[in-house]
Amino acid sequence: TESLTVAELAKKLHREPSEIIKKLFMLGVMATINQSLEKDAIELVAGEYNVEVEEEILVDITDLEALVTNDDEANLIERPSVVTIMGHVDHGKTTLLDSIRNTKVTEGEAGGITQHIGAYQVAVNDKKITFLDTPGHAAFTTMRARGAKVTDITILVVAADDGVMPQTIEAINHAKAAEVPIIVAVNKMDKPAANPDRVMQELTEHGLVPESWGGDTIFAPISAKTGEGIDSLLEMILLVGEVEEYKANPNRKAVGTVIEAQLDKGRGSVATLLVQNGNLKVGDPIVVGNSFGRVRAMVNDLGRRVKEAGPSTPVEITGLNEVPQAGDRFIVFEDEKTARQVGEARAQIQLASQRSEKSRVTLDTLFEQM
Ligand code: GDP
Ligand code: MG
Repeated sequence: TESLTVAELAKKLHREPSEIIKKLFMLGVMATINQSLEKDAIELVAGEYNVEVEEEILVDITDLEALVTNDDEANLIERPSVVTIMGHVDHGKTTLLDSIRNTKVTEGEAGGITQHIGAYQVAVNDKKITFLDTPGHAAFTTMRARGAKVTDITILVVAADDGVMPQTIEAINHAKAAEVPIIVAVNKMDKPAANPDRVMQELTEHGLVPESWGGDTIFAPISAKTGEGIDSLLEMILLVGEVEEYKANPNRKAVGTVIEAQLDKGRGSVATLLVQNGNLKVGDPIVVGNSFGRVRAMVNDLGRRVKEAGPSTPVEITGLNEVPQAGDRFIVFEDEKTARQVGEARAQIQLASQRSEKSRVTLDTLFEQM
């Protein structure tokens, strides 16, 4: 793609030419519909639509599924499942996450300092599983609101002594809307008041029918507190992963999603990224939401410095000019100049849209007062 006319670019992006002309105008480029655009300008506009200009193809990074399928099947390899834990308050989500992490991470990685980066990986039978430990509901709502899909499997934690509660149903609805398979962990089995049959009965009413009752939902009785049943829960996760065949290409430039981000006094903008396809490397020029930079340092969930991170791996990075938001996409570019241009254009456009939102709000307020 050495050059395209405004009309051709609009067509590729499935937009009206007038919209592209407006975008260009905001970027300080005056253009007419039949004007031919150079690569730089194309990339600026494409960046606004989350599109990477790659040879002849314009790839939409809002659709990570497409990125995976755009990869030749021969380049795809199995990747770890990405799991979110959801359920009603006090049913044991945090205890389960801690329990899995403590038993599994330390096994092979003795001495590793566990560090909270919003996600972690464990090894089970030589295979890895990635857990997001941001609160499940928040992760789903903020990320889905931003169009990001990060979760492969949801673990629905239901306390056996309490049964289905409002946030249990909310969790089911989130997972169903996102078309994410659900594994039910019937927790607190160590308690005398535990009544797993009641949990199965109640969940059946919400369409989650256990395999033993002729349905296809996996139920795993566990105690997050004693650790009982957790190994078999992890094996169930591996099983679902095998059936669903989650794959990625580890030999391309990385794309993925921000899990969490904040400003650190010493290190500046710090973001936990989940690599969803490709391989992220230290030094990569990157655009993350409306921020950009070069990956300065990468730290894994054990607090260790790493040089690269493959598919389904969570890493904390520094080197961005701004703090991105959870759910923002990231994409690695060929060179820093392009990353900077796209990042700056995206920030500019966000500013412009914020300004127009502001003026709309002002108008609305005006009408309210009348
Ligand atoms: P969350 O709100 O879902 O994150 O729930 P927590 O993990 O904070 O657990 C709520 C309470 O239930 C805590 O006091 C835990 O110690 C307790 N708890 C969690 N899992 C179990 C379990 O398997 N058995 C028992 N007896 N208590 C549990
Ligand atoms: Mg909790």
